[in-house]
Amino acid sequence: MKYDILVIGAGPAGLCFARDMAKTGLCIGVIEKQPESVLADPPYDGREIALTHLSRKIMQELGIWDLIPDEHISGIKAAKVLNGRSPYALSFDHHEANEDALGFMISNHRIRKAAYESLKNFKNVHLLTKSEVLKVETDNEKGQIILEDGKCLESRLVIAADSRFSASRRMMGVPVSMLDFGRTCIVCTMHVESPHHYTAYECFHFDRTLAVLPLNNSQASIVITLGSEESAKVIGMSKHAFSADIERRTDNRFGKMNLTSKLFPYPLVATFAKRFCAERFALVGDAAVGMHPVTAHGFNLGLRGAHTLASEIRSALSAGCDFSSQKTLESYNRKHRRVSTPLYHGTNGIVRLYTRNSPVAKLARRALLRLGNNIKPAKRLILNQLTETKAA
Ligand SMILES: Cc1cc2nc3c(=O)[nH]c(=O)nc-3n(C[C@H](O)[C@H](O)[C@H](O)COP(=O)(O)OP(=O)(O)OC[C@H]3O[C@@H](n4cnc5c(N)ncnc54)[C@H](O)[C@@H]3O)c2cc1C
Repeated sequence: MKYDILVIGAGPAGLCFARDMAKTGLCIGVIEKQPESVLADPPYDGREIALTHLSRKIMQELGIWDLIPDEHISGIKAAKVLNGRSPYALSFDHHEANEDALGFMISNHRIRKAAYESLKNFKNVHLLTKSEVLKVETDNEKGQIILEDGKCLESRLVIAADSRFSASRRMMGVPVSMLDFGRTCIVCTMHVESPHHYTAYECFHFDRTLAVLPLNNSQASIVITLGSEESAKVIGMSKHAFSADIERRTDNRFGKMNLTSKLFPYPLVATFAKRFCAERFALVGDAAVGMHPVTAHGFNLGLRGAHTLASEIRSALSAGCDFSSQKTLESYNRKHRRVSTPLYHGTNGIVRLYTRNSPVAKLARRALLRLGNNIKPAKRLILNQLTETKAA
């Protein structure tokens, strides 16, 4: 079968890119190893995604946002960054951004479900589920994909959206820089007794970071990053012991806390592809840049990149040019690198600073929080990065 575009991976980035392309009328195939029943009703995976204003705008344009019921969208009204046990916090409020919220929390499985629903009625988009890609090749005329069952598919352009450990990126010989933090992120949801007032807390406790992110119905998303050797102990804790431990680590700010989900561990490995395109081939989502979750930018960046690539392809189509030409793909590569390079290295720098225990690092952390609060341009810069209102 011949397609215009083949997308490998129906995660949130692959589905959003396919949705962005759907109205062009191009024939699009989305290859996913999971069955369609999982795409239609993805299981809860513990990830509560903090979305920026730019992501909301893109998702609204794609008709994905409106498919998520309001009760499953929690607005973040304020944010506080704390250093160790010090009560001093770098604080942000939605009024400073002149917006109704700094950002929005939505469960990853609900984003995936809505992205799938937004696509399923397009006749020119074919979901090839329960299909694993075994081989990818491209030349100056076409891309060719071999599936596990031996089927051979052809397209003018191949898009890799198959996660930060993208096998197709490797098959296409695109190098990646990989940073294994040797740490694990544990996520879960908890019920809080005292109101969180829709404030997000990020607490840097030297060897651990702990984020408490506000959700509707007195729930909060808990994000802990810690040494991988310690994570097994935490996963093995009883519900009661875990809840008591988080209460203590948050200085009882939220009163009684009760675990309301399983604990989901994710290994912390950040990845950055050396280039985001090759001949008739482009990377989107985590396959291009796999971020550390501490700055909550992974999907936001993936969505922005997918939208940039879709816009480049649309421009080429409306100019009557080859949409899969090197010029189109290079333009995407340039634009997306400009946005993602500072974000990627900045995030990794924050991780290093906030997980080091040296006196210099402690001093630098304290100074940075004060600078962030007191130097107006610095605060505005962080606020813009957090909300992406300027880019929206
Ligand atoms: C704990 C945690 C918290 C996070 N919090 C935030 C946040 O607050 N804000 C934010 O913006 N981001 C956040 N992120 C990041 C966000 O979850 C990811 O950026 C996003 O899910 C990546 O989507 P993706 O579609 O690129 O990749 P994935 O979700 O990894 O999807 C890849 C898809 O490709 C399929 N696939 C893989 N290989 C093949 C193959 N060979 N053949 C066929 N199919 C294949 C897989 O089955 C999968 O469906 C967080 C991440 C974590 C781990």
